[in-house]
Amino acid sequence: MPEKKCKIGIMGGTFDPIHIGHLVVAEAVRLEYLLEKVLFIPAGNPPHKQNLSVTPARHRYIMTVMATCSNPHFHVSPLEIERDGPSYTIDTVMTLVKQYGTDTDFYFITGVDTVRDLPTWNKIDKLLELCHFVAAARPGGVGTIDDIIKYFGAAGQRRIHRLATPELEISSTDIRERIKSGRSIKYIVPENVENYILKENLYRN
Ligand code: ATP
Ligand code: MG
Repeated sequence: MPEKKCKIGIMGGTFDPIHIGHLVVAEAVRLEYLLEKVLFIPAGNPPHKQNLSVTPARHRYIMTVMATCSNPHFHVSPLEIERDGPSYTIDTVMTLVKQYGTDTDFYFITGVDTVRDLPTWNKIDKLLELCHFVAAARPGGVGTIDDIIKYFGAAGQRRIHRLATPELEISSTDIRERIKSGRSIKYIVPENVENYILKENLYRN
């Protein structure tokens, strides 16, 4: 199949808060797949985190803008936080396909843990027709994705890829716990994000 003209990365996440693990993975995938840009899309009301308390979207959006502003290839989209109801990736990708046209290839950037959950995602078969998934290795015993690629058969082979990136043992959960217990988050999040968290008194209780 001939390559499409434009390639765009999508980095979806709760980003509560965004950290350098997200940034390193997004940049590695951008360079490997020669992506024109990466759209960071903070989730509005994540379906898999319905029972957990998530920081208001406004803060997560601002931190994502701050974290990505020094990279001219990184952009932030308010698409999901402006939408009511649960954020489903299929709705987001369908909106982007409409916006960018069919001459664009989309690469959804994730960690291995997220790819392992794909079988439970809303309209996943349709989603695999619309975009590629690139899984970055993530420490913490989340396993491989061979069985997931197999599970989706030909679509899995064609659409799900893995990429070896620097494995950073960083998660937003750990960052929130560090703040709660008064430990440092220096160098784990960009400095401007660290300052914003302190200024807005986020994650203290
Ligand atoms: P939480 O601990 O709250 O779940 P998180 O660190 O997993 O936060 P998310 O916003 O849930 O961050 O993740 C968004 C995407 O980034 C997911 O696909 C996740 O797998 C990926 N990701 C997050 N941290 C890393 C990391 N350190 N290495 C590789 N991928 C990561
Ligand atoms: Mg997560």
